[in-house]
Amino acid sequence: MGARYSAPRGTQDILPDTSHLWQYVEARWRDLCHLYGYREIRTPIFEETELFTRSVGEATDIVSKEMYTFEDRGGRSLTLKPEGTAPVVRAYLEHSLHAQGGVQKLYYITPIFRYERPQKGRYRQAHQFGAEILGTAEPIADAELLSMILHFFSGLGIPLEKLELRLNTIGCSVCRPAYREAIRQFGLAHRDALCETCRARLETNPLRILDCKVPTCQAIMQNAPPIDPYLCEACRAHFERLQALLKALDVPYRRDVRLVRGLDYYTRTTFEVVAQGLGAQNALCGGGRYDGLVESCGGPPTPALGVGIGIERTLLVMQELGVPLPEPPRPLVYLVAMSDSARVPALLLAQQLRHAGIACDLDLEERSPKAQMKRADRAGARYALLLGEEELQQHTATLRDLNTHEQNTVPQTELVAWLQNRP
Ligand SMILES: [Zn+2]
Ligand SMILES: [Zn+2]
Repeated sequence: MGARYSAPRGTQDILPDTSHLWQYVEARWRDLCHLYGYREIRTPIFEETELFTRSVGEATDIVSKEMYTFEDRGGRSLTLKPEGTAPVVRAYLEHSLHAQGGVQKLYYITPIFRYERPQKGRYRQAHQFGAEILGTAEPIADAELLSMILHFFSGLGIPLEKLELRLNTIGCSVCRPAYREAIRQFGLAHRDALCETCRARLETNPLRILDCKVPTCQAIMQNAPPIDPYLCEACRAHFERLQALLKALDVPYRRDVRLVRGLDYYTRTTFEVVAQGLGAQNALCGGGRYDGLVESCGGPPTPALGVGIGIERTLLVMQELGVPLPEPPRPLVYLVAMSDSARVPALLLAQQLRHAGIACDLDLEERSPKAQMKRADRAGARYALLLGEEELQQHTATLRDLNTHEQNTVPQTELVAWLQNRP
């Protein structure tokens, strides 16, 4: 009989043979964030639609064609979060975290939802690690964040030489308009050769032509003017200081003048980390500064920055690069009742072992001893614990090492200690 339903297009089930890998990278992310002084924040899966249209920007692909927006039974327009930053800023303001003063460092693990064409490494429900630093305009914060991101990937065992940190600045509300106009003029001069989307972007979002993935657009934009002569003094100083700090921290990066990011709220620093061996969807993470976002959401002027790291792609890169991955959890012991009268004593013994913190499992189907031994093998247990008439009478258990087939008969009262100090 086949399955009657399947998971929606662009989503995936994380099955038991891979969920432990998710748990592993999630634990590494949490540990690392705590190491860098971040605290966790959890926000709802959906938000008022307006939060995203106003912050991410009406003209972006995300808002114009990728959001999962629906009306609830009360007639409110809600949207499944398409990115992680705007909800954090909303919560930061709603709960007056800014009033606590100082810098807030917040991290999260969240699904995000975008109606995109599914392909390798791209899902309609994707998952992200996020980190946000709110309340500082200093380039030292940008440097610490970038250094932490590379620390995360190298800590997972991904060789840094397989990664590239791409870095750019996109100016601020003072200096960017002139650059935007320069790009628009450059685009207009090549209008007929641009793709249809970019021709529309000439009026709505000309900077995004810079990171269009269509080869003809890319070829044209190779010769587009860089932002450097347009940067205001403050933006230029910020970018120079950041680069000096990255050199001091020995963080390798490459300047990419075409890196502009798809969200309207970015200012100054933008970055992404790309990996070898991922094909077209090779960006592992992206982020940057969003100095105007908190204010545009109704808060006080609050410079901030952050990153979103794709969990699916991180796992994909680890697999493709052959990074050592943890084994799934296995029971240490599989209890085998050698007769029907041993079934209840086996269950009691399992209870004692589990309460002592020893992972074990046993047959729940009243199978034969031979079938139970097969289960012990299949469960990947280190020991089969055999409980027969003789063991019951003498209050012992026989432990068979399933690798070496060595057997030891141990008094039941000493089982926990024996297993805890096992050879
Ligand atoms: Zn500027
Ligand atoms: Zn294009």
